[in-house]
Amino acid sequence: MSKPLFSSMHTHTLFCDGKDDIETMCRTAYEKKLHAIGFSAHAPIFKKTGIKSEWHMKNEKLDEYVSEVLAAKQRWQGKLFVYLGLEVDYIKGLHSALGSDIKAINADYLIGSVHYVIPPNGAEPFTVDGPIEEVLKGLNEGFNGNAEMLMHYYYDAMAEMIAMGGFDILGHADILKKNCHDKNYWPLESEICRQKEIAHIVSKAKLTVEVNTGGINQGKIHDTYPSLLFLRFLHEYNVPVIITADAHRADDLDGNYPTAIQTLINAGYDEHVLFSEKNNEKILWKKQKLIQ
Ligand SMILES: [Zn+2]
Ligand SMILES: [Zn+2]
Repeated sequence: MSKPLFSSMHTHTLFCDGKDDIETMCRTAYEKKLHAIGFSAHAPIFKKTGIKSEWHMKNEKLDEYVSEVLAAKQRWQGKLFVYLGLEVDYIKGLHSALGSDIKAINADYLIGSVHYVIPPNGAEPFTVDGPIEEVLKGLNEGFNGNAEMLMHYYYDAMAEMIAMGGFDILGHADILKKNCHDKNYWPLESEICRQKEIAHIVSKAKLTVEVNTGGINQGKIHDTYPSLLFLRFLHEYNVPVIITADAHRADDLDGNYPTAIQTLINAGYDEHVLFSEKNNEKILWKKQKLIQ
């Protein structure tokens, strides 16, 4: 009986807000017997959006990042699959995976993620997964404290991102809950409707959705992004899923994967996917049983 295979395709290194370098991540992935590692630095945003961020890769680092990942791909050939990716923000009207700068790097795959919402009243854009004080400041200044409105803006942005396309994996689809998970800020009923709708449109767009253990790895929440209920909707629509760790440290590369596996089984899944190859701009995924 062979061991089930897993990869770690959502990772951050010293090129953005991660703590380890590319080689350490590759070596650890190999030691952890992962099938593949994919690098998904936060794609630079500053030049296009003017938004200052400490956690995105600097524009001037992009070329070095690409060449370091490609060099690692060569070094580890035959031992570990190494893939070049980016986690690309969707920021309404400002930044998406369709940008020419993103296309130019010819990545193996892209993760599309919503972190930012742009308040309707002209207040500063802010990230829904930032520190709780900043989220509450954004909620109060940008949305007059109306959590339901913020929730709709977040899922509106996600729906727009999916409609625009240009990426392969939908990132942490309910990260909105990161800071407010136990505080019940979000009106549950209306959020569930939005999640159902996202599951439907993501299935039509034929995207893969990540089951991301990053919030658990950071000690912020107890469950995966997306939650069990959201995953049940995704399963109803036959959306393929890939387990990821959103690892910012090599130790976390397969962090809490057993929780993700169990959550997927509870949602009705018996398999997940691994990146196989890219053919004419299309990713080919390999199906894998969750338990062998
Ligand atoms: Zn992210
Ligand atoms: Zn990430």
